[in-house]
Amino acid sequence: MRGTAKIVGGGIGGLAAASALHQAGWDVTLYEREVGLSGAGTALGMWPSAVAALDHIGTGDDVRTQGTEQTSAEFLRADGTLIGKLDTTRLRRRTGDPVYLLSRPALLNLLYRAAQNTATHFGHPIADITSLQRECDVVVVADGIFSRTRAALFGDRYRARYIGVTAWRGWIDNRPTRTMTETWGRGAKFGITPQEGGRTNWYATTVAPEGAPSPDGELARLRELFGSWGGPVRMVLDTIAEEAILRHDLHVVPPLPTFVSGNVALIGDAAHAMPPDLGRGACETLIDAITLARCLRESPMIDAGLHAYDRRRRRPTQRLAAAAAGASRLTRWNRNLWLRDGLLRMSLLLPPPA
Ligand SMILES: Cc1cc2nc3c(=O)[nH]c(=O)nc-3n(C[C@H](O)[C@H](O)[C@H](O)COP(=O)(O)OP(=O)(O)OC[C@H]3O[C@@H](n4cnc5c(N)ncnc54)[C@H](O)[C@@H]3O)c2cc1C
Repeated sequence: MRGTAKIVGGGIGGLAAASALHQAGWDVTLYEREVGLSGAGTALGMWPSAVAALDHIGTGDDVRTQGTEQTSAEFLRADGTLIGKLDTTRLRRRTGDPVYLLSRPALLNLLYRAAQNTATHFGHPIADITSLQRECDVVVVADGIFSRTRAALFGDRYRARYIGVTAWRGWIDNRPTRTMTETWGRGAKFGITPQEGGRTNWYATTVAPEGAPSPDGELARLRELFGSWGGPVRMVLDTIAEEAILRHDLHVVPPLPTFVSGNVALIGDAAHAMPPDLGRGACETLIDAITLARCLRESPMIDAGLHAYDRRRRRPTQRLAAAAAGASRLTRWNRNLWLRDGLLRMSLLLPPPA
């Protein structure tokens, strides 16, 4: 069926939902608190299921063309020796696509273009959705990990929680790489991946108190933590500048009892923010958006469409969030690294979720 939808949040989920609902014949209005699209952000791994979801709004091929293919994935110890490899050809054989690396701004631009026929209002924060709920058939809540609407609907018990780990991210220009490496040390890891435009994307995580910037600067802290590590990590640390380093503490959302309340549907990080260790948050957000539009289009009643969305998306995303939490816990080990490496090697033999 068709109707009117108001979307809160113009990030990955909100823009994808706007486009998918518009294409399903819905009248869509989107509100984003920022005055424009975010121009900052490092590479996101786009898994085949997310690229297939983007095919539904005509954007999959843009990701295939603009993204950089991840041709291999190696997991190393801090001394540069190999723990194990992910067989990336298996994924391609199974799905027809590899993982593509694409920066957040590039993805947002593609989604914005796909949503251009909807009414998008930037610089328009929504503090309370009560009046929106009265004005339209469905409110899509896509306001991210610290969602105000989730807090209003589900209470403090479901607020985002710090997982005890902080992440640094960035990219370097003119150093193309086709290989993904993740180097695992004691309670810390350092990842390097390709990014479009001949850039190399990097990220690092370690255990840290919440909201505590490094007193001598983030670059000094990164050099203290990773300066003795070998190979590609050294190259990145020698190249980056303090002002180009992004730092975020990592939070998760506890499993919600439902993604739907009245005529409101939560999608993306607002519904199921997970640790980034499996690189799936944005991918699942895209699949949420496309699935929600499809469920609403295929159902004779709005209520039935919303509940079909909840049934199709809540369990799989919560299972992935639990797996990502397990992967994140593994990176925090600082003893018995031989056992951790064995567990990592075993996990690399399992078929990766597409
Ligand atoms: C370190 C790190 C690495 C990651 N790597 C990957 C990866 O490789 N692959 C992957 O798939 N995922 C990855 N993710 C996860 C991914 O970034 C998120 O899952 C994704 O951005 C969620 O999209 P979203 O649209 O739900 O939320 P967001 O992208 O956070 O968008 C929310 C939007 O809502 C707006 N907003 C907020 N409040 C309001 C309001 N009151 N009114 C109006 N607008 C509002 C915000 O300004 C924002 O634009 C990573 C995350 C982190 C932290």
